[in-house]
Parts: sequence; C-alpha cells; structure tokens
Amino acid sequence: MTKHFDVIIVGLGPVGTLLTLLLNQAGIKVLGIDKDISIFPLPRAANIDDEGMRIMQRVNLESAYSDHFSNPSGAIFTDKNLNRLSGMDIPDDFYTGNGWLPTYFFWQPYADKTIREFLLNSGATISLGTELLSFSQNSEIVELNAYNSESEKECKFTSRYLIGADGASSLVRKLCGIRLESLGYDKDWIVVDVETNDDHDLGNYAIQVCDPDRMTTFIPFPKPFKRWEFLLLDDEDKHEMMKERKVRELIGPWLESEKYKVIRSASYRFHSVLAKNFQKEKVFLVGDSAHQGPPFMGQGMMSGYRDAINLYWKLNFVLKKSFPENILKTYNVERRPHAQFIVEGSAAIGKLMEAYSIGSRDNTIDEIPEEVINRGYGSFRIPVLEKGILFNQSSCNNPLIGELFPQPIQFHNTKIKERNDKILGDDFSILSKIDINIKKRESIFLNKINAKFIILKDKEIKENQWLSMFMQSSDTYIVRPDRYVFGATTKDISFSDLLTDLQSQLEV
Ligand SMILES: Cc1cc2nc3c(=O)[nH]c(=O)nc-3n(C[C@H](O)[C@H](O)[C@H](O)COP(=O)(O)OP(=O)(O)OC[C@H]3O[C@@H](n4cnc5c(N)ncnc54)[C@H](O)[C@@H]3O)c2cc1C
Repeated sequence: MTKHFDVIIVGLGPVGTLLTLLLNQAGIKVLGIDKDISIFPLPRAANIDDEGMRIMQRVNLESAYSDHFSNPSGAIFTDKNLNRLSGMDIPDDFYTGNGWLPTYFFWQPYADKTIREFLLNSGATISLGTELLSFSQNSEIVELNAYNSESEKECKFTSRYLIGADGASSLVRKLCGIRLESLGYDKDWIVVDVETNDDHDLGNYAIQVCDPDRMTTFIPFPKPFKRWEFLLLDDEDKHEMMKERKVRELIGPWLESEKYKVIRSASYRFHSVLAKNFQKEKVFLVGDSAHQGPPFMGQGMMSGYRDAINLYWKLNFVLKKSFPENILKTYNVERRPHAQFIVEGSAAIGKLMEAYSIGSRDNTIDEIPEEVINRGYGSFRIPVLEKGILFNQSSCNNPLIGELFPQPIQFHNTKIKERNDKILGDDFSILSKIDINIKKRESIFLNKINAKFIILKDKEIKENQWLSMFMQSSDTYIVRPDRYVFGATTKDISFSDLLTDLQSQLEV
C-alpha cells in the first residue's frame, strides 16, 4: 500500500534535516528521504551565525555547533604579504540581539553526526538509501516514485506537500521545470582542509588574501583543523592542482609541511545562482536547490536554515491550524529576495577581493569605486524581510518591522545565564511593556494563532540592551513564529490595527 504523509522532504543535508525536525516537532506527519545511507563525511560549511544558533535552539540542537567551535577575532582583507587592507574585528564577548556570538566556525563532520543521530531518534519517519526518481502533482496530492538501495525495490509515497532539499543539482527543481538564474560570479577554486599539530601561529582571523597572483581564503577552524581556498588559474588543471604535492606547495608559505596532514582537497565551482521561483504549486525548494553562492560570506547553509524556519511555520499554520493555503505563497515572496541578497553579497565580496588584488598590483587601491567597497562590506549586514506577512505587507514604513526580535535573555551580572526564547512559544507572540485591552473577537483570533502574551518587566528590559532598544521604540510588538517582527504599535497604529491586518493576511 502507498504510504501517505503531510509533507515529504527529499534530501537530508543540513537544511532538509532541520525542516524535518521542525515539522515533526509540530506533530506534522513528515517523511524525510535521502539517497545516501550515511552523512557526507567531509566538511563544506565552515560557519554558522547567531541567527543560525538561535534557529537550532528551536530543535534543541545548538550544542551540535557550540560544543566544538572557534570564534574568529575578525574577518579581514589583506595584500599578498598579509598586510591588512581593511576588515572588521569581532570582540570575543559581543552577543547580538539573537543572544549568540556573531559567528561560530565549526567542524561539520562533528556537527552533522550529532544532528543525524538526533534525527534518527526524533520519531520522524526517515528512509535512508531512498532516491527520488520522479513525481507528479495535482491540486490535491503529490505522488513520488523512489528507489531503495537496501531492498533494491522501487517504492511509492504520496503527500500533500513536497520539499526539494536535494542540494545544488536538485532533481525536484529540474522536474518542476524551474530554471536557475545566474547572478554573475563563476570561478573554480580548490578547497583544502588540514589537521595541524597545533604548533603554528596562523592566528584567529578569517583572511581574504587579495594576491594578484592567486586569491586565497584562510579559515581558522576550531583546533586542530584549518582551511584554505585557492583560486584556480585559467591555465591550471584542477585534478593536477588537487594532488597532495601541489596542495602542499600552495600551503607552503603559511605552514611547514611536517606540521599538518591533508584531510582532503576538492575543487568547487564557486558560482552564484538563484532559482526563478522557490515554489511550484505543492512543491517548494529550500537550501542549495533554490540558491547557491560562493562561500565568502559563510551564509549558504544559513540561507537554507532561514528557508526552513520560514516554510515550517507556514506549513504548520496550514496543516495544523487550518489556515488557507494561500499563506504558503509568501514563502517565495519573503525568501527569494533575501536569498538573492546573500548570493549577490557573497559574489560582491569576491569582486572586492579582485578589485583589491588588481589595485595592490597596480598601486590603484585608492581608485576602487566606493560602490564596490560598500557592497563588499555591506554584505555582512543581513537584510530585514522587506515584503510578506508584515504589517501593511512591507517593512518600508517602520525600520523595526521585518527585523528579528531580540531573544529574551536572563543575565547574571553581565554574563548570559539563560537564553529564554522558549517563552515566546512556537507560534506568534505579543511582547508589550504595557497592559493591553483585548476585545472578544480579537481573543478568538489570538487563540486560533496560539499567541503567547508576554508583559516584559522593567528589569528584563533594562538588563538586555537589545530589548531596551526595541522597547524604547514601541510599547507593543507582534512577533512571528520565526521571531521576525510582524508589526509594532506607534502613536498612529494601535494593537487592534496590527491584529486586524494580521488576521486579514492569514485568512486570505
Ligand atoms: C567550500 C564550501 C564552503 C562553504 N561554507 C559555508 C559556510 O561557512 N557557511 C554556510 O552557511 N554555508 C557554507 N557553504 C554552503 C553549504 O555547505 C550549503 O549551502 C549547504 O550544505 C546546503 O545544504 P542543503 O541541505 O541545502 O544541501 P546538501 O547539503 O547538498 O544536501 C542535499 C541532500 O540531498 C540528497 N539528495 C540529492 N538528490 C537526491 C535524490 N534524488 N533523492 C534523495 N536524496 C537526494 C543528497 O544525498 C544530500 O544529502 C559552503 C559550501 C562550500 C562548497
């Protein structure tokens, strides 16, 4: 008999796994399949940011990243002799509004192992060694054909929704006929990961070396690991350049050969592409199947995590709270432009590296156009949500709308004692420093969206600089399940105005 699910997720890389866990936790009948039996054993992603850590808190998996990490002292651009051209420093005790350090370098095989074990014990239905072959959809249902390598048999599944989390060469995307749009960066690089004996002075900065002879990136992974990325030159053969002898030549200026062991070298085409649409009827694309950028920003997986949390709460509202399916259309509206900024921003960092390289060779660094510099750096500032389920459907009238609301944190002296995001609940929350009179009709709707009502005490607000900043700008906020601000009261906009608008957008 064909097994039926609410949602089927194809691909259990980091993004598909997170979405499976979120949906399963919400009581949604979800099946996750992956063509491979085991996790990919080598690292790709190097960095998770503060927002990613906060998202992982939702599935109690933040320790997969925080148990073994290094936090860099900053990210800098240098000339070929490692003289700093520009960059930013990161104090090691700076916690953002999300309640975490801005960036964590981690060793992906360790994190993925913990996450995979957690997934297998989560109660979600997981089928490993199961490869999607084809699917069809109508207005009611999606039907999948897959092949299981253990039983050596074809199998069929049906679901209400299908998620393509199947990575860069996504079959789901191809079967939907969704094209990838190129955003203009396309170069081959060699990525080398090594294990050192810790006897070195490589420092703790992520470095973009703007060397006109060969651009290079250095990543200070947690001990004992390090990564270099080397641009492949036009006349070089990538297979030749990946050989250990060549790799050691490239690392030579940084570290003596006896001080490290090469774990792997791989060639990657660093390109920037974006799917034309992240949805086709009942099928959604998340993660690398929807967007891929060069890794200079360390935001590829992060963009996928944002896709996962965005789609999760909307599917939850449709499947568990019986809201109309139309809200799922806002997934593409909200996520596509945001992902585009990240892909273009990553490419902009690559372009700034090129400009610095040429400038340091020709002594024309002072002539680099301001927009190239601003976009290169500006990329590190993650944008707000601009359109979608926001008051008046747009963040342009109030700078706090579409921002992430700060995580409520309990401090002991100046140290973080407890991160209390869970008090915001799983769905919408209302945070206010004043009492609000709720009308009967409003309370019916608030119950329907399972809203949590939280009156913040003076002490809590004062203790958290981010919360203070938000609560100085407005008395009351409506915060979405993914912690983005839906709306804030002003002298002209009452709580009832916010709620009426939210209701009209969710019940379309
Ligand atoms: C060198 C490098 C450095 C990077 N650094 C960072 C970084 O620092 N920070 C960051 O956030 N991101 C980084 N990234 C990007 C990040 O690695 C990716 O964005 C992330 O792995 C994408 O995850 P995903 O789950 O979407 O896809 P994937 O990890 O590719 O997972 C896709 C899964 O789908 C499965 N699959 C495919 N086809 C099928 C099928 N037909 N049926 C069933 N299963 C299928 C595959 O087996 C796989 O498990 C980097 C990438 C590279 C290459």
